[in-house]
Amino acid sequence: MITYDRLFIGGRWTAPSAPDLIEVRSPHDGSLVGRAAQAGPADVDRAVAAARAAFDEGPWPRMAPEERIRAVARFDELHLARAAEIAALITAENGSPHWFTSMLQPAVSVQTQGYLRAAGELAWEERRPAAGGGETVVRREPVGVVAAVIPWNAPHQSALAKLVPALLAGCTVVLKPSPETALDGLLLGELFAEAGFPDGVVSILPGGREAGAHLVAHPGVDKVAFTGSTTAGRAIAGAAAETFKRVTLELGGKSAAIVLEDADLDQVVAGLKYASFGNNSEACVAQTRILAPRSRYEEVVAAVAALAEGLAVGDPADPATFLGPMVRADQAERVRSYVELGVREGARLVTGGPGIPQGLEGGHYVRPTVFADVDNAMRIAREEIFGPVLVVIPFDDEDEAVRIANDSPYGLGGGVWTADREHGLEIARRVRTGTFNVNGASPDMAAPFGGFKASGVGREFGAAGLAHYTELKTIAV
Ligand code: NAD
Repeated sequence: MITYDRLFIGGRWTAPSAPDLIEVRSPHDGSLVGRAAQAGPADVDRAVAAARAAFDEGPWPRMAPEERIRAVARFDELHLARAAEIAALITAENGSPHWFTSMLQPAVSVQTQGYLRAAGELAWEERRPAAGGGETVVRREPVGVVAAVIPWNAPHQSALAKLVPALLAGCTVVLKPSPETALDGLLLGELFAEAGFPDGVVSILPGGREAGAHLVAHPGVDKVAFTGSTTAGRAIAGAAAETFKRVTLELGGKSAAIVLEDADLDQVVAGLKYASFGNNSEACVAQTRILAPRSRYEEVVAAVAALAEGLAVGDPADPATFLGPMVRADQAERVRSYVELGVREGARLVTGGPGIPQGLEGGHYVRPTVFADVDNAMRIAREEIFGPVLVVIPFDDEDEAVRIANDSPYGLGGGVWTADREHGLEIARRVRTGTFNVNGASPDMAAPFGGFKASGVGREFGAAGLAHYTELKTIAV
């Protein structure tokens, strides 16, 4: 049992304005994982005031970029050293399976290294001859006070995708983790304290939607960096518009896996296990629409159904488990309601269903489910379910496959499976999503990540991500 009874405000452990602690309970069996302080509007005001003062008057934005790079690199070392412990905590809080958190936590350091390299290579100030004669100085200055709001599904990955570039650029940051993952959120405070950042530079305030809404609308904030649902992203973009805050949004998805006629089905199934069901399918990039050629349709449906049936569902802390519980009871209920909706919409339920897997009634478990004979116009093919429910949609030729892949309000991820890698690349160029892979190739955590259309605005990772935390200034001399 872990207790954090104070908030991390401006680098200091501070009593919250309200005494009620968040109870974080295991989605596996309801046991108490820990209690955490929860931020209210008064705490948000204090953290923004500290961040504002540290930005307007403090040393951090005025330090040489090399000094900030050293501080962030020190933080990264401390973070990596505790990767296994943090992975276990996140698994206990949100039900992400052990294999996933223990793979992702060290990978967060790869993500951080990408930002560190980009900061080392960035031209923070350039002098150039002016077009009409004379000289111009072009500077990259920090954007200011950043509000970072994140969901619970991969909390350190999404927190550090924002904190790291913000800090490297010289910004000050108020992070609001979700209540489900409040404990690992506050643990980050220990690491920032140990790494030794100046007063006011980092605040961590777990809390609900109300605290988030107060933070993103705060006049003391210059930029909002958000990961979460498209619905919340829309509200946040609206609130930010009032004071022209800069906004980056990493939102939902309904990504397609295109299986071409020449694909090796064993390879497809081995890849979709991770691409479609990884992290309990509570992943923004989950490939939940499987597009299959009509000539091999039943073969693909049978292979995907066998994959779903073979997944080890159970205690997320057990290394043998592949699929853990949904994060909350209402999330499990929502997933089941989509399964019922699919049946009502006339799709063919091939495996799974709305029930609870046998023996797992004590947790927020759902049955991995596959639907066939799905039309891309059905709601189960259009809406993000955020759980292990796949739809298999037939296509007649590649043009139709690309058209179906693109016929979505979202545009986040996707993949193509083919024996011809170069042809896969041609397909990739035609799909309107921010990321895509050929034959399940691993993502590069230093390359731009983000969405087209309703999947978001802006990019994270590497140089493209860092750029969003800077303002360009031009000085004629
Ligand atoms: P959510 O939008 O309900 O909540 C995300 C965070 O925003 C939480 O901290 C929440 O408290 C806060 N929040 C909610 N409404 C807010 C508002 N109006 N103003 C300010 N803050 C607000 O999402 P969730 O259910 O926690 O997470 C799942 C969603 O996140 C999915 O849609 C998923 O696709 C998306 N996601 C996207 C990415 C990506 O990189 N594109 C990554 C992970 C998750």
